[in-house]
Amino acid sequence: MTDLHVYDTTLRDGAQQEGLNLSVSDKLAIAAHLDELGVGYIEGGWPGANPKDTEFFARAQHELRLQNATLAAFGATRRVGGNAADDPLVRALVDSGASVVTLVAKSHAGHVERALRTTLAENLEMIRDTVSFLRGEGRRVFLDAEHFFDGYAVDRAYALEAVRAAVEAGAEVVALCDTNGGMLPNQVADVVADVLDATSARLGIHCHNDTGCAVANSMAAVDAGATHVQGTVNGYGERTGNADLLTVVSNLQIKRGLALVEEPRLREATRIAHSISEITNVPPYSRQPYVGASAFAHKAGLHASAIKVDPDLYQHTDPTLVGNDMRMLVSDMAGRASIELKGRELGFDLAGDTELLTRVLTKVKDLELRGYTFDAADASFELLLRREVVGEAAHEYFEVESWRVITDARGDENALSEATVKVVAGGERVVATGEGNGPVNALDHALRQALSPAYPELDKLELIDFRVRILDAAHGTDAVTRVLIETSDGSTSWETVGVAGNIIEASWQALVDGVTYGLVRAGVPVR
Ligand SMILES: [Zn+2]
Repeated sequence: MTDLHVYDTTLRDGAQQEGLNLSVSDKLAIAAHLDELGVGYIEGGWPGANPKDTEFFARAQHELRLQNATLAAFGATRRVGGNAADDPLVRALVDSGASVVTLVAKSHAGHVERALRTTLAENLEMIRDTVSFLRGEGRRVFLDAEHFFDGYAVDRAYALEAVRAAVEAGAEVVALCDTNGGMLPNQVADVVADVLDATSARLGIHCHNDTGCAVANSMAAVDAGATHVQGTVNGYGERTGNADLLTVVSNLQIKRGLALVEEPRLREATRIAHSISEITNVPPYSRQPYVGASAFAHKAGLHASAIKVDPDLYQHTDPTLVGNDMRMLVSDMAGRASIELKGRELGFDLAGDTELLTRVLTKVKDLELRGYTFDAADASFELLLRREVVGEAAHEYFEVESWRVITDARGDENALSEATVKVVAGGERVVATGEGNGPVNALDHALRQALSPAYPELDKLELIDFRVRILDAAHGTDAVTRVLIETSDGSTSWETVGVAGNIIEASWQALVDGVTYGLVRAGVPVR
């Protein structure tokens, strides 16, 4: 392992993302995942300033069993004209129990004078006083130099003074922050190199993605000599987000050969990225580098035939290093080669079976013409292929006799839906009802209710995303509705598709595929 710090700020800076709200329990669960990933430091929040964060640190002491990571409490330098020892917010940092305190401080002369409204000298004194007080309390101190790059451009000498003040008072790391996210890699590299020359600081880097360069800027800083890198999982953060720590770590480890986290832990990156998405309730970004569902997905038929010969020709690294896998997208651009590869992915050797490959391809093309899409609905395609290869019976977990759903609203109350589903499963005819805030939700509840006596395994499945698209009238038919549903079992998720003239019918098809695939995936036998 190198001594480069991997410092995660998902729980503090990442949580600033619009629409992202984390409870204390959510934060504890995310911290456990981050620890599993092998990050060195987890910034838990701002105790004292935010009651939820105070509670997080209190509960973390009893509820988190960290194997790798050290918790860091985030806070600011003491108040203008005060005394660190008497400042309640500084005191709260000590009381949090965290052994590392990350202090945010101003290093931009303009911010000191106009935002903080104090003198340049007092700001330096606030840094010295707060860092030395915390050192005296036995804490390790990291300093986040806010707006550092912009401040350096305005007044280099003062920005350097702030760094020196922190180091002289005992700060272990000074993280240079591109708070506004406007830097480009060459600027970051030049500034980091200059600050290293001009001070004795150990430097860190904290980047925002406003120029789309957060990862590149972090890499440039490390190349220039920074040995502490901050970021958030999945690039969460306000505006355009922070540097995606998963990409930064994968780049440094896989491309640069630095050992930041133990190799088996990096192989959990894809699973952990998705598990954290479940907690934040922010849908995973399929095009996310390394860990996105599309990161190693290939579509074109031409590529597919070459990939069959040698996958390395068409991918930049081995997807299994980050726990992802190569995925063939099945689309009308694809040929028999991609179906064969997809089959291989699923454990079927279809190499010599031209007749079967042609049959599947014809079916896929026909369905795509009718509005289905299998690019996004891997699970529906897998079921289609399995039915062709293994035969229908292997996946007939249940037979649907009928379903119906009604929605009603009374007075000014919200509309509610109620569904009734009749199925035969495990040799029994079951009639079940379900309620929901919408018809699809109600049907989902009723279907799983009906199936749960025969298949209790379905209890842990959850419908997590539902997308509808009206497809234009084409090929001489009426407009149709395509529904994509994402179902999760808590650790992974899969997409299924339904197409029909009626939106509820399309949803029903996707729901049925979703639960069927859940059973196939869990290896449940037909009962
Ligand atoms: Zn930030």
